[in-house]
Amino acid sequence: MAEPIRWVQTNLRQTDASLDSARLVEQLADMRANVLLIGMGGIAAYYPTETEFHYPSPSLAPGRDMFGEVLHSAHTRHIRVVGRFDFSKTVKQVFDAHPEWFFRQANGEPVIYNGLYSTCINGGYYRAQAMKILTEALDKYEVDGLFFNMFGNQSRDYSGHEVGLCHCDACQTKYRAMFHKELPFKPDDDYRKFMFVSSREVAKAIGDLIHAKRPRAGYFNYIQESTDGIMSESNTAVDRPLPLWPYSASDNVNRARNSEPGKMAVNLNMQFVDMSWRFATVPAPEIALRMWQNIAHGGALTFEVNGTLDLQDRQALETAKPIFRWAAANERYYTGEESAARVLLLGASQTTGRTYPTEPYRGIFRLLSEEHIPFAVSDNINWIGKREFDLVIATSWAPPELQKYAQSGGHVLVISPNPPEFPIAEVVKTTKDLKGYLRIRDHAQFPSLKDTDLLLLDGAFTEIRSSVSPPLTLVPPSMIGPPEFVHIDQHDTSIPGIVIRGNITWIPWDLGRLYYHLSLPAHAHFFRDVIDRINPNRQLKTNAHPLVEMTLMKQRGQTLVHLINLTGTSQTGYFPPIAMKDIRVDIAGVFTHAETVRNARTLAVHASRQHTEFVVPQLADYELVVLK
Ligand SMILES: [Zn+2]
Repeated sequence: MAEPIRWVQTNLRQTDASLDSARLVEQLADMRANVLLIGMGGIAAYYPTETEFHYPSPSLAPGRDMFGEVLHSAHTRHIRVVGRFDFSKTVKQVFDAHPEWFFRQANGEPVIYNGLYSTCINGGYYRAQAMKILTEALDKYEVDGLFFNMFGNQSRDYSGHEVGLCHCDACQTKYRAMFHKELPFKPDDDYRKFMFVSSREVAKAIGDLIHAKRPRAGYFNYIQESTDGIMSESNTAVDRPLPLWPYSASDNVNRARNSEPGKMAVNLNMQFVDMSWRFATVPAPEIALRMWQNIAHGGALTFEVNGTLDLQDRQALETAKPIFRWAAANERYYTGEESAARVLLLGASQTTGRTYPTEPYRGIFRLLSEEHIPFAVSDNINWIGKREFDLVIATSWAPPELQKYAQSGGHVLVISPNPPEFPIAEVVKTTKDLKGYLRIRDHAQFPSLKDTDLLLLDGAFTEIRSSVSPPLTLVPPSMIGPPEFVHIDQHDTSIPGIVIRGNITWIPWDLGRLYYHLSLPAHAHFFRDVIDRINPNRQLKTNAHPLVEMTLMKQRGQTLVHLINLTGTSQTGYFPPIAMKDIRVDIAGVFTHAETVRNARTLAVHASRQHTEFVVPQLADYELVVLK
């Protein structure tokens, strides 16, 4: 938290145990990386291990300590080393000795992938043997941190084959004790809760061990609880549904930093296209975009490769190097950043044991970004009421805490056909799939919609009883063909498309999902007018293009405005962004000095009545404005 992080991950193959440690560290130092995440143990150890059921890589020369060498030479170059462990699988010898430690499919068969046997998070390998392995590692090496891959019984293997849920004795006994019933065959809410609890138990035990043995070492995995840093990944997969999510890194880092502000966000920037093509690289501008997004939201700068840095596809590495060096040269701006945003977008919390769709959330995320409304994302409800916000927006998840927040004067906007978990208005019914319209009844309330009277409505809609005449009303489905008949039976209703009760506004249809898929300007304009009605004094006003992402951060008494140019994104393509000129920004707060860092200049500032104006003369890929 006190030093800038420029983190390189090498996912070593066991054959890389023969790597040239001096060369690797020289390559890292040359690109100004200051943290190395590198294979240490688990499936294969990169050091001579004496712990039972833990085996060095077959490529580790007898007597050689590759990990120890890397650690030593990295430390002489002031590069921290985080050791990577994977306890999710191990070799047949261990299975033969302790079959009860392993994942059992419902048919009793183990899960075997390329000769490795999957362990179970509730079995003795994770619960006891892993602790012995880690004790040796922590006693022997002055690591700066440990990272753990794959935590919690994956239900698919690397090739995407379903293996179902673990039915080992430990899981069965534990599940019965928790829920007084048998394990299901497909994950349901109870099972997700079971896995949530099980993985957190192991996560805590490992964290306690690390903190006891090496109090200054960081603990990292993909779990928020018990860890010192929150890991996530910006990655791709060929069968993922379109559209792409070009805000992936922003989303992950914004959410991590604002859900657990005491922890650093390390969003791994995965260079490869998919599991089957670990050596094929995603577009270079995508790698660069994730890097800028990571640091613009106050997270670590990251880059990940498989194998060593001597790559068969060097595009990603050659993209990463100059950005790492630039970030190193300007590292004073990349520590101690905190979001200064005054709008909170509530993420969908996993802690409830339920899953929420990402599309409604992503649609609102995009709308906020395109409107240049600085916003923090949090799925930690404990934030509510502790930090000052002008507005809290909920999409799929609107918990009762929001009602208390509104009662104490906070503004809440719920955008979802699912009724919130607290009463706002009398619900008549929810229709799952409604293909109709919403009619603008009062254009004075929606000035951005002067050229349209109808908004497209598709999907779920909740009907609310209303005694007042609403500014937006439902137009139910009507005939769609033949053309002679189109909508000739259309009629209006007084069913509201928006409900305002004191400080709480509820849009009872899926604006976020519709925008995510259709990007209709009418929906964007509606959103803009709703936001401006609730919060007329925007924190930031600008003439920037919607594809300029802007974040507003505080840092040791100064304010930072990050601008990221996303104009290179197009469908599945990532191209170099189109350079822009003269971006006007009007920001809340009185500042006397403004300078840009990437294109070093001092800017003229015009401060008046709690606002400051300045012009960013040019934006290529990224710019940072420092305000004092
Ligand atoms: Zn199990």
